[in-house]
Amino acid sequence: PEPLLRVTDLRLSLGRGAGAVDLVRGVSLDVPAGTTVAVVGESGSGKSLTALAMMGLLPPGVTVGGGDIVLDGAPVARLTERQWQPLRGRELSMIFQDPLSALNPCIRVGDQIAEMFRRRAGASRREARDRAVESMVEVGIPDAANRARSYPHEFSGGMRQRVMIAMALSLQPRLLIADEPTTALDVTVQAQIMRLLAERKQARGLTMILISHDLGVVSRSADQVVVMYAGRVVESGPSRDVLSRPAHPYTVGLMRSVPDRRRPGATLEAIGGQPPDPRTVPAGCAFHPRCPMARDRCRTEVPALRPVAPARASACHFADEVVGDAPDRPSADT
Ligand code: SF4
Ligand code: MG
Repeated sequence: PEPLLRVTDLRLSLGRGAGAVDLVRGVSLDVPAGTTVAVVGESGSGKSLTALAMMGLLPPGVTVGGGDIVLDGAPVARLTERQWQPLRGRELSMIFQDPLSALNPCIRVGDQIAEMFRRRAGASRREARDRAVESMVEVGIPDAANRARSYPHEFSGGMRQRVMIAMALSLQPRLLIADEPTTALDVTVQAQIMRLLAERKQARGLTMILISHDLGVVSRSADQVVVMYAGRVVESGPSRDVLSRPAHPYTVGLMRSVPDRRRPGATLEAIGGQPPDPRTVPAGCAFHPRCPMARDRCRTEVPALRPVAPARASACHFADEVVGDAPDRPSADT
């Protein structure tokens, strides 16, 4: 069957003409209905920008330079803002790392949720208020009828993220995009929010895209993992397989960077160096300056994303060697 969302060879560019810089350089991925697909990479990998393109929310100056995004059979990458508005919230919704910046600090939380029902679903004032409280109950906010009268700053970070989830789900979208939904939260609360998302996904038959820099966060909840580096997909496949036997040195590095949640403060074996500036992406494999396995061929020849096992792909010239030399799975996050 057709996936609910399909991204094909997407190119996102900053600026136009000769000075344009490609920030996303030919990304393809499928999101089958009812599944969770994780998009993983360090900041600057292009993962958030790809997600924003899926919502029609690209920042000013960033344009779709090629490829397409197809949502439920309809191409959406080049829709106008007016064409996007009815889709957002109803077809797909997004939650972000920092709920405080997405909420209006001067409006009571219940009223902000109720506004979604009034403005977008045509509910009466009273009905909207009731539905707001119901939706707060649904996302596990205790004493919801009273808490609806509180302001955003009176909520903890975890409770604010629950409010954002309630708002994102209020118009019953089919697809929820969560961009670093737990990155600003402490470890215990992270696990609670991930559990809530998994529950809601199950109960509503949602499809989810989970964007994260932390493979530990996605390891339990994702069906598929897509690893991005320097604006490209470098590895993809079923998460169980990718995490037990990664086929790209960058994925191996990300796994070694996962904090050990049973031993807080334990040292991390992070990947040395930084992701490249999009203006000066290294020739050959963009990861070669940081790759412990790099050799001459890597400095000149761009590795294509190619199949390495059923349903799996890697963009490393030496993927077969990597699979033979995998670290242990990252520890579970609870
Ligand atoms: Fe490392 Fe070369 Fe593979 Fe790139 S192609 S990930 S530099 S071994
Ligand atoms: Mg980001």
